[in-house]
Amino acid sequence: MTQSRILVVDDEPELLLSCKAILEKEFAVSTAGSGEQALQMLSDTAPGWDLMLLDLNMPGLDGLRVMDELHKRGLDISVVVLSGEVAFHSVSRAFQLGAFDYISKPYEADALINTIRNALKKRELEKDFIQLRRQLERSERLHRFMIESSPDIIFIVDKEGIFRFVNDRAEEMLAYRKDELIGHHYSVIVDPASRARAANCFNERRASERAARDEEIWLLCKPGSAPNLERRRIAIELNAMGVYENETINEKGERLQRDYSGTYVVARDVTERLASQKLIHYQAYHDLLTGLPNRALFMDRLTTAISVARRQNSKLTVMFLDLDRFKFVNDSLGHDTGDALLKSVAERLKRCLRECDTLARIGGDEFIVLLQQAESIATAKSVADKIVRSIKEPLTIANHELCVTTSVGIAMYPDDGTTAEALIKNADIAMYHAKDLGKDGFSVFTRELSEQQKEHLSIETEIRRGIRDNQFEVYYQPQVNALDGRIVGVEALLRWNHPERGLLTPAFFLAVAEESALMIELGDWVVEAALSDMKAWRNAGLDAGKLAVNFSFRQIEQADFVAKIVGALRRFDYPGELFEIEITESALMSDSDKTIDKLRQLHAYRVNIAIDDFGTGYSSLSLLQKLPLNRLKIDRSFIQGLRSDSDRSIIEAIAHMAKGLKLDMVAEGVEQDYQLRYLRKLQCPVIQGFIYSHCLPAEAMRKLLEERATLTARSGRVLQSV
Ligand code: C2E
Ligand code: CA
Ligand code: CA
Repeated sequence: MTQSRILVVDDEPELLLSCKAILEKEFAVSTAGSGEQALQMLSDTAPGWDLMLLDLNMPGLDGLRVMDELHKRGLDISVVVLSGEVAFHSVSRAFQLGAFDYISKPYEADALINTIRNALKKRELEKDFIQLRRQLERSERLHRFMIESSPDIIFIVDKEGIFRFVNDRAEEMLAYRKDELIGHHYSVIVDPASRARAANCFNERRASERAARDEEIWLLCKPGSAPNLERRRIAIELNAMGVYENETINEKGERLQRDYSGTYVVARDVTERLASQKLIHYQAYHDLLTGLPNRALFMDRLTTAISVARRQNSKLTVMFLDLDRFKFVNDSLGHDTGDALLKSVAERLKRCLRECDTLARIGGDEFIVLLQQAESIATAKSVADKIVRSIKEPLTIANHELCVTTSVGIAMYPDDGTTAEALIKNADIAMYHAKDLGKDGFSVFTRELSEQQKEHLSIETEIRRGIRDNQFEVYYQPQVNALDGRIVGVEALLRWNHPERGLLTPAFFLAVAEESALMIELGDWVVEAALSDMKAWRNAGLDAGKLAVNFSFRQIEQADFVAKIVGALRRFDYPGELFEIEITESALMSDSDKTIDKLRQLHAYRVNIAIDDFGTGYSSLSLLQKLPLNRLKIDRSFIQGLRSDSDRSIIEAIAHMAKGLKLDMVAEGVEQDYQLRYLRKLQCPVIQGFIYSHCLPAEAMRKLLEERATLTARSGRVLQSV
């Protein structure tokens, strides 16, 4: 412990000496012979002095004036005054000036020391007290600061619910001045919808210490504080704690009683957090493009609806919708147009439905609908019909007049499924059936459709196995000069030697293959097999003329369509002018710009291009003019119906058109003599059909070519018609 520093001030030198001698045992003592000297010493070395023993009666600056100076200069030192004669007024003045005690001369050593000890002790206590007070003040300031600058609204309501304290933040956030709240009931700021929950938090005389917590109480700002007419609302999450008075506690520390006096409430603004939670929730359950529910929300609603329907023994309808040719719009007019189209489709669909129905978008151009009150299949059908008709109304988007159609599948609870998954799956199967029937319509699920679907799946696996086990084979049908019967070409036609079902034509498997990448594999395989047969025949000196190969739209839409064909021709060193691509009208229609481009590239390799099944599609003249075409193949159906006038006029129109466009023409499916005679008269140059030859396996085709070769050599005539 450091010694206390004492300054003894007296004009009598002996006194100074004796005093110093007494005090030095305990304290660090300095002396001053006059008031002036004392002040000098104090200001030189301050702070650090603890106590001054001050003679009141001195020449020059006397004791009282020294104290005056101390006061003025704000020097912090305890003073004990010394005086020879007891002059009451100077002593009382000294006390007024803050002296701690008074000692009269002459004094006893013990009394002097005791007085000084006491003075120092008191000084110590005072210092502690000051420090404590400062600490308290500081912590109270801190508290206030924390409360006032808190990001939370803090207020106290009394037991009647009247505001007693409100912090700055509340003023700021609620746009009320403090005096507009204090003295008023809290209900002025509580949204009516949250009143019950607020009352629960603010009024309750809680037995336990635990604070009440509640999320989502809505407060109202002062009317007119926001630019719009409605009162602005703030969502708060609050913590409320009871305030109690007059607690009595027994010896064991148990509380015997206390009086509820109000509630202390801390409320945090969670408006934004709530809004973002709502947004996240919304995004998780909605399709952002159309604002419709997504699959997750739909499943939720459907599952609930099913359990209600089960209890009430009622029915439900699920519809699966898929736009027809949406991909075409998206690819040719761009995604923005596609998006706009989807939005207006969603709007149209909504208009066909009732409030209680659910419409969801579950994929690119796929929608599902839940009809809550479609008790009969008749109602479901009439809604589906309304949807189909409303979708096909033309609409204008970004200056494009668009016309889309939709195919709808219907499945009903409980007949067509009792779970959400089964109903959706079966509505989907029915939708595919509607597509098969020519799109732009609806179809109702049946058990047979489901069987077909299963078969479809098993065909797919069988095709895969067939490719692996070399069960496929290319057959050839000759194309013959109509006048002299010479073979001018062969069409490659795919066959499947199925281990159980026997020889299968494409009618059995092609549609299934076209639904997946299997078609590409099969198509690639046909090109390879046919080219290798042609090559072998040519090497044997046999002339089969042109090789015609059928291509599916699946193959054409591949980016490497051109490269693959050109690659194969190169590999087999086969001339492009002896290769013909057969494409149906419908395959040309989808994504025609890209297709035209690809066909032009192939044309540059001198590859021939023929339109297959011509007359059955709706290809426009302008499209035909844009294409680098060589041939039209008149569809078999017109040849078959040749006896009717209308078919004849169609064939004649096609023949005219071919002439006009300078295109070659082939008639296929020619079986009868009268057909052949008619076609000859029409000057159709090439004939394909059973009248000359069926489709033949490669080996038989080779034999036919050999026969014709020797025949030609002998007589100059070739295949003879009947
Ligand atoms: P398509 O291109 O119109 O082929 C002509 C079809 O008519 C062939 O049926 C052929 O056997 C048949 N046919 C030929 N002459 C006559 C006749 O005088 N009378 C009758 N009633 N029919 C005749 P096939 O081989 O069953 O092929 C059916 C369709 O499958 C083809 O129609 C073609 O579109 C497609 N196809 C065949 N092979 C392939 C292929 O390798 N790739 C692709 N993508 N499609 C193929
Ligand atoms: Ca063909
Ligand atoms: Ca054809």
